[in-house]
Amino acid sequence: MTKIPLASRLFFSHLLVMIVGVGSLVIIGKLSSRPLFVLHLQKLEGQGITLRYTRTEVLDGFQIAWNRSTFWSVIVGATAAGGLSYWVSQRIVQPLTQMRKVTQKFAAGQLDERLPSSEIPEINQLANSFNRMAVSLEDVEHRRRELVSDLTHELRTPLTVLRGYLEELATERLEATPAVYQQLAKETRRLERLINDLQELSKAEAGYLPIKIEAVNLRPLLESLVQKFADQLLEDGPVLRLDCPSQLPNVLADIDRLEQVLVNLLGNAVTYTKTGSITVSVGKESTGNPIPRLWIAVIDTGVGIAPQDLPHVFERFWRAEKSRNQHNGGTGIGLAISQRLVELQGGKIEVESQVGVGSTFRFYLPLA
Ligand code: ADP
Repeated sequence: MTKIPLASRLFFSHLLVMIVGVGSLVIIGKLSSRPLFVLHLQKLEGQGITLRYTRTEVLDGFQIAWNRSTFWSVIVGATAAGGLSYWVSQRIVQPLTQMRKVTQKFAAGQLDERLPSSEIPEINQLANSFNRMAVSLEDVEHRRRELVSDLTHELRTPLTVLRGYLEELATERLEATPAVYQQLAKETRRLERLINDLQELSKAEAGYLPIKIEAVNLRPLLESLVQKFADQLLEDGPVLRLDCPSQLPNVLADIDRLEQVLVNLLGNAVTYTKTGSITVSVGKESTGNPIPRLWIAVIDTGVGIAPQDLPHVFERFWRAEKSRNQHNGGTGIGLAISQRLVELQGGKIEVESQVGVGSTFRFYLPLA
C-alpha cells in the first residue's frame, strides 16, 4: 500500500467532500432550475403577463446567467475552499512534524528537548505526556551519570591502596607481614561491601526489590533488634533503650525491609555515639495527617551532624568527613537505601541533629 502523507490525505479528503458538495449543487441546480423557471413563467402568464414572443429569449437568458454565475461560484468557491483546506491540513500536520523532529533529537541524546504546547487539545495532551516522559528519562539519565561518576570515585581509593601495597610487595620494598595482608584484606572487604551496598541500592532505586506489605506488629522486631545491638555494645559505651508502648497498633510494612532500615539506623547510631544513650522510640503521629501513621525514631547522643550537612545525609556516597568514615568502613550508601526502602513502604524518613548533642532519625509508616 502506498504511504500518502497525512497532510495530503487531509487535503484530498477535504477536496473530495468539496467536489461532492459542489457537484451535487451543480447537477441538481442544472436539472431543476430550468423546469422551475418554466413553472414560474407559466405562473406569470396565468396572471395575464404576455410572454409569448419573449419566452425563448428569457429562458435562454436565464440559462446563460445561471451557467455563468455557477461557473464563477465554482471557481471562486473551489479556490477558497482548496486554500482553506490546505491551510487547515498544514496546521494539523505542522505540530506533528515538529514532534517528530523533537523526538528524533531526544533519541539522539539531546535530553533537554521539550515539545511546545499546541492549541489542538489532543496534540497538546500528547505533547504533555511526551514532556513528562522526557523529564523522567532525563532524571534517570542524570542519576545514572552521577552514579557512574560517584562509583568511579569510590572504587578508586581502595584500588589505589591495594595497588600500592601490591607493588611494594612485588619489589620487596615492603615486608610481607600478616599486618600487610590484613590491610589488603580490609581494603578488599571494603570493595566487597561497596559492591553489595550498591547492588542493594540500585535494586531499591529501580524498584526491583520485592516488597511484601502486610500488617506488622513492630514490638517483637524492635525488642529483638535492641537486644541484638545491646549485646554488641561495650561496657563504657552508650546504653541502648527501647521506649515503646506495650500496645502498639499494627503498621503496613514489609518486615524484612523494615529490619534492614532499623539495622542501618541502629548501626549508624552505635558507630557515631561514644557515650550517653541510644533510644529507639515509637509513637502514633498526633498531627492531623489524613493517613494515620506511626513514627519510629532512633535517637542518639553521638557526634551529631552539622546543619550544612543535614540535607545531604540521605544522598548516596555522602559521608561527613570522608576520611574518618572511610576508616570506619562506611560506604555512605546505607541511608540512601534506608530512605528508598521507607519510601517503597509508603513512608517518609527525616533527620534532626545537632553537633555534639546527637541525632534523631525518624521515619513514618502508615497504620494498618
Ligand atoms: P555509612 O555507611 O557511611 O554510615 P550512611 O548512608 O548510613 O553511610 O550514612 C551517611 C553519613 O551520615 C555517615 O557517613 C555519617 O557521616 C552520617 N551519619 C549517619 N548516621 C549518623 C548518626 N547517627 N550520627 C552522626 N552522623 C551520622
